[in-house]
Amino acid sequence: MVRFKKRRRRIFHRRKFCRFCADSSLTIDYKNPRTLRLFTTERGKIIPRRISGNCAKHQRQLTTAIKRARTIALMPYAATLSHY
Ligand SMILES: [Zn+2]
Repeated sequence: MVRFKKRRRRIFHRRKFCRFCADSSLTIDYKNPRTLRLFTTERGKIIPRRISGNCAKHQRQLTTAIKRARTIALMPYAATLSHY
C-alpha cells in the first residue's frame, strides 16, 4: 500500500537569481572563505548551480575559487566532520 503525497515537486519555490550578478559588492575571492562558504554545504561540498541559482559565469568562478581555497586549506574538502 503505497500512498503518494500529492505535493508539487517544487517545494523550494523561490525566485532564483545569481547573487553575484545581483550584488556587486559580493566578490568571488578564494581568500575570502566566508563568501565561498555560502555556496557549499556544511560538509564542504559545492552547491550545484541549479540549487544556488548562480549564473554559469559566476558558478565557474566560484568553483575555481573554492578549489583554490581548498588547496591552501582555507576551505575543507568534503566530509571532515571531526571539528564540528
Ligand atoms: Zn552571475
